[in-house]
Amino acid sequence: MPLKRSLGDANFFMDRYSEILTGRKREIVLLRGKGCVYKKCAFCDYHLDKCADEEENFALNKSVLDSVTGRFSDLEVINSGSVFELDKNTIEYIKKLCVSKGIKTLHFESHYLYRSRIEKLREFFDGIELKMKLGLETFDYDLRERVLLKGIDEKDPKKICRGFDEANFLFGIDGQTAQSMLYDVDNGLKYLERICVNIMCENSTPIKPNKSVIDAFLTEVYPTIKENGRVDVLINNTDFGVGD
Ligand code: SF4
Repeated sequence: MPLKRSLGDANFFMDRYSEILTGRKREIVLLRGKGCVYKKCAFCDYHLDKCADEEENFALNKSVLDSVTGRFSDLEVINSGSVFELDKNTIEYIKKLCVSKGIKTLHFESHYLYRSRIEKLREFFDGIELKMKLGLETFDYDLRERVLLKGIDEKDPKKICRGFDEANFLFGIDGQTAQSMLYDVDNGLKYLERICVNIMCENSTPIKPNKSVIDAFLTEVYPTIKENGRVDVLINNTDFGVGD
């Protein structure tokens, strides 16, 4: 689950649909679910974009999904949490939308704790290529589990990535170096099809952006990945055009 969703007015429609025209072209929607079940990641405050009322969520999600044209045959669906926290009607509507708009590739996000449910989701979306994106942040176990409190109790990069196709990384915080970020990128590209690098932005949590780490990223890491079509880099909160 990427970092980039500090929503002011979470219902504001125009923030919930966008097209990504660089790298792999795709449409992207930010939907709303019942809320992240985990909620412990130390850097995250966007799990506040939630609503317990499934009917209200479906009404909002349907209005956002009705903007999807299918022009790239590729749709990324994010919500402030995991896909498994979206209501059943929304999931079924997404499936119908994929069929009616000719969407061949569909991306969802998930926390590691839901990994055993991914296979069933792939079965439900049979005929559509499902790309599951893990909220990983880093392969550095101590940083990830002792500071970021990510909740992935596994050290082996290959085992972590099993069952997932993509992952989000969080760069630009205390404890990271150019070498550690390059290690994350190398292993991400080794075990996954795609990675998304999010640069830490100031938010309401105690985790703050570290300027010297961000400079190290920009001078020593970014040049090695900026032309790589398997990598997305979000320097600013709204680079994907959704969220505030
Ligand atoms: S799992 Fe995702 S939404 Fe939930 S707290 Fe962590 S980063 Fe935030």
